[in-house]
Amino acid sequence: MDSKVIYDIVIVGAGMAGLTAGIYAGRASKKTLILESSTYGGQIINTPDVQNYPSESHISGAGLMSKVYAQAKDCGAEVEFESVEKIQKNDDGIFNIHTNGDDYQARTVIVASGTRNRQMNLPREQELMGHGISFCATCDGSLYRDAAVAVYGGGNSAISEASYLTSIAKKVYLIHRRDELRASGVAVEDFMACQNSELILSSTITELNGQDKLEGIVLNTPHGRRELQVSALFIAIGREASVDYIDGIEKDPDGYIVAGEDCVTNIPGVFVAGDIRTKTTRQLVTAANDGAVAVNSALAYMRNNI
Ligand code: NAP
Repeated sequence: MDSKVIYDIVIVGAGMAGLTAGIYAGRASKKTLILESSTYGGQIINTPDVQNYPSESHISGAGLMSKVYAQAKDCGAEVEFESVEKIQKNDDGIFNIHTNGDDYQARTVIVASGTRNRQMNLPREQELMGHGISFCATCDGSLYRDAAVAVYGGGNSAISEASYLTSIAKKVYLIHRRDELRASGVAVEDFMACQNSELILSSTITELNGQDKLEGIVLNTPHGRRELQVSALFIAIGREASVDYIDGIEKDPDGYIVAGEDCVTNIPGVFVAGDIRTKTTRQLVTAANDGAVAVNSALAYMRNNI
């Protein structure tokens, strides 16, 4: 890495969208840098079994993303594991990208930094994070072998987490706020068929018990207060958009960056790809699609403006 060079494309985020952008930018012989604040791969690395990525009937999220990461590097994309703190455009049209480790310059920027786990906003949630509260059953589930655990949420992530845990824990409660799950299909049927599963609908978590570690949760149910003794709670209540490092970028009321299928934002030279873009379908394939499209839009911008 040389912080004096001007990159053609700096990509923020090394999930499916960012890494696919890296593949396309590298193959277009553009000097490309991917910046990632944590581990490469994005949110899918916590999914044990991905069954809907074309050509892969069964593959772990981590396994899939290891392949995509290697492909991006093979295509010439550089990767630095640093957190982007500020992106500003100079008068000459070049972007300054300030991270917690260095400063970079780029002709174009692709924002592909994804979304973050939604939190419950309950008292003591932060203190107990990592001490019984987790966002990832495949990462932390084995710590709770033969224990009672709970999963909060009603979507595909919650079902996936809960199903995974049925093979490890003694008892798995799946708690959802409405009277029907958002998720449907085989995954739900598989979970319900497990001897050690219990679905609790129309209920919300109101309290977290335990001093140094989680020991129980309190629910508000249609029948009143219910207390569950659980050693772990896996939160799977969706994701939230949050990009605070580019001033002036247009977002929708939920925080997603506004762009059409061309991935062009309101700031010339800035493009957006993946889950953080306004869109109807957030899946691995649509993230990969965005990565390719954003690069093509960036190439067109460079042809016409630089
Ligand atoms: P999601 O589909 O948005 O589901 C979030 C769940 O959390 C919903 O059931 C929602 O309840 C609940 N929720 C939201 N805010 C809450 C709050 N403040 N308190 C309590 N509950 C709350 O999110 P996801 O399950 O993470 O899935 C995200 C996307 O990834 C979806 O498109 C999903 O299909 C996809 N995905 C796919 C797979 C797969 O294997 N194909 C696996 C995982 C995820 P309501 O239902 O009442 O709104």
